[in-house]
Amino acid sequence: MGGGDTPLNLIWLEITGRCQLECVHCYAASGPKASPGTMTERDWCRVIDQAATLGVGTVQLIGGEPTLHPGLPALVERALAGGMAVEVYSNLVGIAPRLWEVLERPGVRLATSYYSPRPPEHEAITGRRGSHQRTLRNLREALRRGIPVRAGVVEVLPGQDVAGAVAELRGLGVAEVRPGATGRARGRDHRLRPRPALWALWRGQAGHLPRGRGVALRVQPLAAAGQRARVLAG
Ligand code: SF4
Repeated sequence: MGGGDTPLNLIWLEITGRCQLECVHCYAASGPKASPGTMTERDWCRVIDQAATLGVGTVQLIGGEPTLHPGLPALVERALAGGMAVEVYSNLVGIAPRLWEVLERPGVRLATSYYSPRPPEHEAITGRRGSHQRTLRNLREALRRGIPVRAGVVEVLPGQDVAGAVAELRGLGVAEVRPGATGRARGRDHRLRPRPALWALWRGQAGHLPRGRGVALRVQPLAAAGQRARVLAG
């Protein structure tokens, strides 16, 4: 354990603001025209190395859509080399062939959001026609390859078939399904309590971290550029 008495379970890194989708509930305001951010792959490697030094258990790579970041394979390898598990939180709309090998690495798992078994309902939320079919196809491919997957069903629309989505995901073999999960939805931020002490993580000077289970902390070295690093301690 590093940085005091509080175990650091998870650091989630919003490595790009870009995304193929434009979900109505996206808290990050990501989309095809959003900024990819100004932090370089090297910058993110520094953050990952510092997280490893602090004893963080899992690095979540998220965005935007993390699979659009050209440095994703290197960031995954960096985290694994640091002894941490990796979760890639993807919309699964488009997985490049070379990325499947990265996702199959031991210690890597996928997470995704899913909205409805009905394509029109799903796509009313994602803002992209055809996204339902593409996400389902890649979800099946991930499961076929034996990649661990967890999924959150974010309730966005009145009357949305959340129960049907959960049943479909479980039927496909998704091991962990969370109905009502917020995923990258707006509302996740309200649980965060930014603590200036976590700026130390970015500066490589982390020392004392606040105590307490479930305390969520945020580091925003270049938040204006659409990238963030956040730490969940507890
Ligand atoms: S919620 Fe996720 S998939 Fe949807 S626009 Fe935001 S980053 Fe992209």
